[in-house]
Amino acid sequence: MENNMMRERILHEFESRFGSEPSFYASAGRINLIGEHTDYNGGFVFPGAIDKVIMAAIAPNGSDRVRVVSLDLDEEAEFGLREEDAPSQSWARYVFGVCREIQKRGGKVKGFDAVFSGDVPLGAGLSSSAALESCFAYALNDIFNGNSIDKLELARIGQSTEHNYCGVNCGIMDQFASVMGKKGKLIRLDCRSMDFEYFPFAPEDYELILVDSRVKHELADSPYNKRRESCERVAGRLGVETLRDATEEMLESVRGEISDEDYRRAKFVIEEKERVLGVSDALKEGDYERVGELMYATHRGLSKDYEVSCEELDFLNDVAKECGVTGSRIMGGGFGGCTINLVRKDLRDRFVETAVSRFKEKYGHEPKVYPVVISDGARKLS
Ligand code: ADP
Ligand code: MG
Repeated sequence: MENNMMRERILHEFESRFGSEPSFYASAGRINLIGEHTDYNGGFVFPGAIDKVIMAAIAPNGSDRVRVVSLDLDEEAEFGLREEDAPSQSWARYVFGVCREIQKRGGKVKGFDAVFSGDVPLGAGLSSSAALESCFAYALNDIFNGNSIDKLELARIGQSTEHNYCGVNCGIMDQFASVMGKKGKLIRLDCRSMDFEYFPFAPEDYELILVDSRVKHELADSPYNKRRESCERVAGRLGVETLRDATEEMLESVRGEISDEDYRRAKFVIEEKERVLGVSDALKEGDYERVGELMYATHRGLSKDYEVSCEELDFLNDVAKECGVTGSRIMGGGFGGCTINLVRKDLRDRFVETAVSRFKEKYGHEPKVYPVVISDGARKLS
């Protein structure tokens, strides 16, 4: 949706419900270019904010009550600001959680009225929840705290909201990218030290296109935990805290003493760290063909060694390759969800048409396609 249209609709609703003059804020969904299953191994991720946002109109209302309207769901929630005031609607718990987490850190939140809407697809792996949290965290910091809470803490407020009010035990990447994102820049985040660096990402000849398989394979034996356990076992065997500190040579030296499965899991993590550093160099040089090669290598590793792919995602990756797409890989934890594709602009239409029609032919439903542009994260709109 065009941002101006979204803003008009929000303002119209705000004026008819609450009257007073609101301020406007927005924050973004995110992609991760490379660096998968690295966060819990003390490694790097490489996210960026995208041109799909949650936008909110907000004004203090002089009371101790919060009234929030979700335009997209056509629902309203009203709640107080004490712990026992948690609303029942799950979408409103994101807003309530942000209020509470600010208060827990000694920040101020008073009553306010808000209307919000967005175009980050829900549950597609673009982190609409982080966009929602970051939008409100940024806004309440501006309105009630004179922007005294630093941006990294705003990301942590979003993360704690997921942990404590939404039952999602997530890392920091999504909220970090949503808060810190900048137009034309990806951020390499070191999940161990929280050091980060911006890298240029504004290719003239390429586009990022997400293809959402719309499948999610829920597996019984919690594959995520099993992957973590493998990584921890190998790190323990190597005498390092996390695989971040392991090298390929170290891994080879214990190959005969660990299971083949653990070996392949650790191999992926160690290689993925190298690939992230390779992408850093390639982005500095503007070498997007190299970036694409590394994306394909990540997909192979996720599929063959880490074994978190599935038939549908491997199929989408194969179709991308056949179409001559520059880079393609699973984005996110795996077992379903999206592929992220770096596509030359002249190939775009052919790729999208081919991917959609061939996927539908084989699996009976159309994947969703989301072109994204790397854009600004949390902000006040003028
Ligand atoms: P995602 O991968 O998109 O973050 P989540 O399940 O973590 O998926 O978060 C989606 C939830 O966030 C929704 O169920 C809803 O509660 C809330 N949400 C996200 N976007 C909106 C929106 N535009 N309007 C209302 N609620 C939203
Ligand atoms: Mg989420």
